[in-house]
Amino acid sequence: MIIKKFTFNSFQENTFVISVNKKCIIVDPGCSNKTEEETLEKYIDDNCLNPIILFNTHCHIDHIFGNNFVSKKFKLKPIMHEKDYALLENAEKIARTYGLNLSPPPLNVDFINEGEHLKIEKTSWEIIFTPGHSPGHICLYNKEHKKLVSGDTLFYSSIGRTDLPLSNHEDLIKSIKDKLFLLEDSTEVFCGHGQNTTIGFEKRNNPFIN
Ligand SMILES: [Zn+2]
Repeated sequence: MIIKKFTFNSFQENTFVISVNKKCIIVDPGCSNKTEEETLEKYIDDNCLNPIILFNTHCHIDHIFGNNFVSKKFKLKPIMHEKDYALLENAEKIARTYGLNLSPPPLNVDFINEGEHLKIEKTSWEIIFTPGHSPGHICLYNKEHKKLVSGDTLFYSSIGRTDLPLSNHEDLIKSIKDKLFLLEDSTEVFCGHGQNTTIGFEKRNNPFIN
């Protein structure tokens, strides 16, 4: 299994391509212009990958800039949690408030819930529902390889913002403490912004959680 990270758009958002035996999941495609789209496409072409899933941890604009491109290019229906659908529907409007142009994200999507799994080849990614940063935020967890794709829930020595519309600080802290911090300390965390971390490091050092 290979987890490739790209950092895209003006929000420095991390897009991940998780591949196993030439099949891949594209997580939170943030490509916001031609150059970034080509960077993502080139990686997929160069490695002869076949994208089979487009997954969104949540629907803030920096995580869905590339939904239009990826879903058209690879004929994929985005998968997300239903509670973030309002953010998706309003994404173009929200982008305009930042003075940004967002290609209309497809609104025909599939919803997924906590406890369900995404499968690529023999690997399985469990959905963990982690509301707070957004109402329908979900993480991807691979138990066998001890990997967590945390979106904007948990960062290296930090946590997701909760000053945004529909955010809730108490919910976020609860999601981290009651769900993510139950994972093994050695679990590697792939964050939606910034560098990777581990659950153990954050349990010991994260200043936002006691
Ligand atoms: Zn976000």
